[in-house]
Amino acid sequence: MSEGKLIVITGPSGVGKGTLLKKLLEKYPDRIFFSISATTRSPRAGEENGREYLFWSRAEFEQKRDAGEFLEFAEYAGNLYGTPISAISQAIELGRIVLLEIELEGARQVAVSFPSAKRIFISPPSMEVLESRLRDRSTDSDEQIVKRLHHAQLEVAAADEFDITIVNDDLEVAFHQLEQAVIY
Ligand code: 5GP
Repeated sequence: MSEGKLIVITGPSGVGKGTLLKKLLEKYPDRIFFSISATTRSPRAGEENGREYLFWSRAEFEQKRDAGEFLEFAEYAGNLYGTPISAISQAIELGRIVLLEIELEGARQVAVSFPSAKRIFISPPSMEVLESRLRDRSTDSDEQIVKRLHHAQLEVAAADEFDITIVNDDLEVAFHQLEQAVIY
């Protein structure tokens, strides 16, 4: 796996990564390959197996993890998440820009195994804004929101480990910065 460009996007849950990445994929459908992760969490309303995630049981995930089939994996808010190598190796060989949207521990693993990967951090304007975005989207239980805010603090504190930080305050400004970082 050496030809394509591997880009890691990390940022707290609720920061707006999903919206930014969706815009980017819509604008550059042929250049960008978005890696579909596997997870043991349950699908949210509207999510489909094989589209947002590969929804695997913990036993299936652990069996594949133990067989070395993940580029990286991590436990987040009580569930496992990981990037199956099979999903991205072909796209990298074909020279496409491969985007991984993953949390901090996974980003650190990729920094070790793929030092040439560009790592981008998406930051909220403040923790207060992040909390209200998480509560407004009402996809997660209170318990999940508390876990996600705790993780968010750890992630924001690690922002300077990344090559680039983009503050998602104004969506258009953040999108322009992301586009510059990914495409050019
Ligand atoms: P969510 O449950 O909100 O979809 O995702 C929770 C967190 O898991 C997000 O920070 C997301 O970036 C991260 N995540 C999603 N897929 C992966 C993956 O394959 N590996 C790792 N390490 N984190 C992931």
